[in-house]
Amino acid sequence: MKEKILEIEKYAKENNVPIIEKESIAYIMQYIKENNIKNILEIGSAIGYSSILMASVDPSITITTIERDETRYMECLKNIKKCELDKRINVVYQDALEVNLTGVSYDLIFIDAAKGQYTKFFEKFKYFLSKKGTIITDNLKFHGYVGKSSAIESKNLRQLVSKIEGYIDFLKNNDEFTTEILDIGDGIGISKRKDEK
Ligand code: SAM
Repeated sequence: MKEKILEIEKYAKENNVPIIEKESIAYIMQYIKENNIKNILEIGSAIGYSSILMASVDPSITITTIERDETRYMECLKNIKKCELDKRINVVYQDALEVNLTGVSYDLIFIDAAKGQYTKFFEKFKYFLSKKGTIITDNLKFHGYVGKSSAIESKNLRQLVSKIEGYIDFLKNNDEFTTEILDIGDGIGISKRKDEK
């Protein structure tokens, strides 16, 4: 398994595929273990790195992960099969905002897709979170740019960072959820329902 994970890391580096920082996935794996999480929804599979590591925490864990990029989706399927996790990880090839989920609920929803759409993902998928479930969001520091958007010269980057800042405001002022932002990796948000904390 370790060998296969190293190969995936190498592929990601060589092909410029963004994958989660080691410190962040280590934290999430520990969180999954401590909170006895069994059923996970991931938005943004890339090539399967984070879903494979999350599934490796315990053999009873099942994951649905969504990816809209065809090349990454194909690579993700390949990697999951190679790790013999295809019975426990279901990869959906679609834009997450168009996916139709019915009658399911997840203990953990991990948001790690287009940063500009974080609020939309949260608003859509919170209905599929179990009562005591957690929504984890990655990249809330966005390489140190968050909080400094007005000083960014590139228009595209400024707009993206200000969307993440908007998402953080949305989390901070949320009536239903309370969020803790941890200074781990690129910044992780841990959101739980207020009445279920
Ligand atoms: N979670 C992965 C990991 O750590 O191994 C990394 C995911 S990468 C940061 C983000 C991925 O989300 C990209 O592969 C991108 O194609 C995908 N993505 C972005 N927006 C999406 C959307 N609306 N629906 C589905 N996938 C999306």
